[in-house]
Amino acid sequence: ATPMSIMVASGRGANAGVLIRDAEALERFARVDALILDKTGTLTEGKPTLTDVEPRGMDAAELLTLVAALERGSEHPLAEALVAGAEDRGAAREDSSDFEAVTGKGVTGRVRGRRVALGNAALMEDLQVDTAGLAERAAALQAEGKTAMFVAVDGEAAGLVAVADRIKATTPDAIRALHDLGLRIVMATGDAEATARAVATELGIDEVHAGISPEDKNALVKSLKGEGLSVAMAGDGVNDAPALAEADVGIAMGTGADVAVESAGITLVKGDLTGIVRARRLAEATMRNIR
Ligand code: ADP
Ligand code: MG
Repeated sequence: ATPMSIMVASGRGANAGVLIRDAEALERFARVDALILDKTGTLTEGKPTLTDVEPRGMDAAELLTLVAALERGSEHPLAEALVAGAEDRGAAREDSSDFEAVTGKGVTGRVRGRRVALGNAALMEDLQVDTAGLAERAAALQAEGKTAMFVAVDGEAAGLVAVADRIKATTPDAIRALHDLGLRIVMATGDAEATARAVATELGIDEVHAGISPEDKNALVKSLKGEGLSVAMAGDGVNDAPALAEADVGIAMGTGADVAVESAGITLVKGDLTGIVRARRLAEATMRNIR
């Protein structure tokens, strides 16, 4: 690889908001066979909005007060949506104590003297909360592509809240172009299977790994590498950073967490997948000129 052609490619990339760390990242990206994409914040806006509130045994304002109190302590994109949506719908201002974030699952803490947990089915399972009366509603919301979260109060199911996260306007064309470039596209998400499938179907992605933890994302990268594939992984979150580092090429959405950017060979400044298409074309063209 001549330093000159790589410099030219990097310059072109930078103008388009695609930052390529070094010559090695560019060369590796030209050889990538499989691309793993995180859903939330990568394929979607990552700015979900509250759509559904379904309390059990209390009114909606009470449920939302508990939800907002807990989520004020969280930095997750879901938390921002829930706090904003809850405040819009008249949640009271309460504080929480003993707040804990459970990575890839949800949040727990105490509000108004009660133990409150908010998160996915895995969190409820960990806490041994019986969600039998709510699971069917959660499934229906997920089939609409929404993220449904369970609320438990003092160990009992107390309702559901759901948010919807729009697919970025540029994502469908970018996925089509990446498929056309011959890349194997794989979606990886901590979100529930049904929600993930609804989004994947809309985008023509048929390989989906849902409900997986950050360590599972890491394992997925390893397993594809084990098949002899050269693997790129794109993500935005703190919990995506280990998988980005494990991949042959890590791609950070520039709008996401700084730690993701640090573990990346490529950074998409605008957080838009069109940048991956550009980077791939640039990488292929550069390598062709060199050989
Ligand atoms: P993704 O891989 O799609 O970026 P995460 O791994 O961050 O998602 O989260 C996975 C799931 O855990 C979410 O879909 C949600 O159900 C639950 N979860 C995580 N953080 C929170 C939170 N702060 N509040 C409520 N639920 C959460
Ligand atoms: Mg994410």
